[in-house]
Amino acid sequence: MQVSFIKVSADSHFPIQNIPYGVFCRKVDGKVSIGTRIGNYVLDLSILSEMGYFNDLEFNRTKPFENKTLNNFMSLGKDCWHEARIAIQDLLSEDNPKLRDNLEVREKVLLEIENVSLRMPVDIGDYTDFYSSRQHATNVGIMFRGKENALMPNWLHLPVAYHGRASSVIMSDTDIHRPCGQVKANDNTQPEFRASGLLDFELEVGFFIGTGNALGNPIRIEEAENHIFGLVLVNDWSARDIQKWEYVPLGPFLAKNFATSISPWIVTLEALQPFAMSGVFQEPQPLSYLNSGRNKTYDIKLELAIQSARMDSPQVICKSNFSHLYWSMEQQLAHHTVNGCNMRPGDLLASGTISGDSDDSRGSMLELTWRGDNPIKLSSGEERKFLADFDTVIINGYCQGDGYRVGFGELKNKILPAKL
Ligand code: MN
Repeated sequence: MQVSFIKVSADSHFPIQNIPYGVFCRKVDGKVSIGTRIGNYVLDLSILSEMGYFNDLEFNRTKPFENKTLNNFMSLGKDCWHEARIAIQDLLSEDNPKLRDNLEVREKVLLEIENVSLRMPVDIGDYTDFYSSRQHATNVGIMFRGKENALMPNWLHLPVAYHGRASSVIMSDTDIHRPCGQVKANDNTQPEFRASGLLDFELEVGFFIGTGNALGNPIRIEEAENHIFGLVLVNDWSARDIQKWEYVPLGPFLAKNFATSISPWIVTLEALQPFAMSGVFQEPQPLSYLNSGRNKTYDIKLELAIQSARMDSPQVICKSNFSHLYWSMEQQLAHHTVNGCNMRPGDLLASGTISGDSDDSRGSMLELTWRGDNPIKLSSGEERKFLADFDTVIINGYCQGDGYRVGFGELKNKILPAKL
């Protein structure tokens, strides 16, 4: 097993097997750089690039690490991503003296995580949210339409999605104000304008497009994997009362686009390969453009915790797994582009709420409390049907290897009162 000269504990999400990408700002001088994470350190790839460490490498022809976002690097394609990953792992390896023994350079390029603030790593052009968990779609369908019409007739034939809003994709550690909007109570004939009373999270994972496709040229399912750069944790914040009133006939709008938050480190698809596995069996068999003969997914353990203002520590209320999803990322991408719709480097496609079969694997308050019928009891003695002001929601995700983890770190946001 490859080991770094930087000490990394077995439960760290960021060993040398990970090498995720992010963008950070040095607290000392405000310089913004592209970096990777190793243990509790950030490695400054921009400065390494400026110092010539990646000279003569194919990926470095346009010096992508000297940009302020990852879009350029993401557009280069998987051979370049692989070349860069190997070069970075080599530099961090305990067997390689080049950086290990050069204390002057180490001082410049290895920063303790406390000494940086993390930035939005990508200029996101477009954001799409899928609805690819059968358990989630079934649960929501039962609540909104009743048991008979839970799963719509199209659901088992295509990965349902809606176009989200890229402008309101925000980072971990950004606070979110409770949204306001039109709500209609069941026993009222008229809607009212108010702060949402049914604010919710959605536990999701998203993937970033690396190389795109030209308008009119679909990405075939056999090729889809090559277009995926990496994954992040996603919280698709949702106002259920606004959603209920607005969603017919065109689907979610203001109930969703006030905020979508993502974790700061993009874990590459290559780093996830040791954790690949077969997805759920699909019946009926999808149409051929959605059928590659395999349903590839990844064993990513997901956990969601909540901490109210009165609690000293977070309380886990949901444990799920990426592999519960019915539709694969490859199918999502093939479907999204089958009409010729073009993807661009840095576009974000999220999975939809990831719910499993067990009661505690449901990825939203709506499902966990069954629309408020079964409130969650918090360690502080409080109860929650939906989120309250000053609640913090924390999502964690990682893959467990033999003696190491490849993880995403934490996605954490606090709810602030509405601006009425
Ligand atoms: Mn969603």
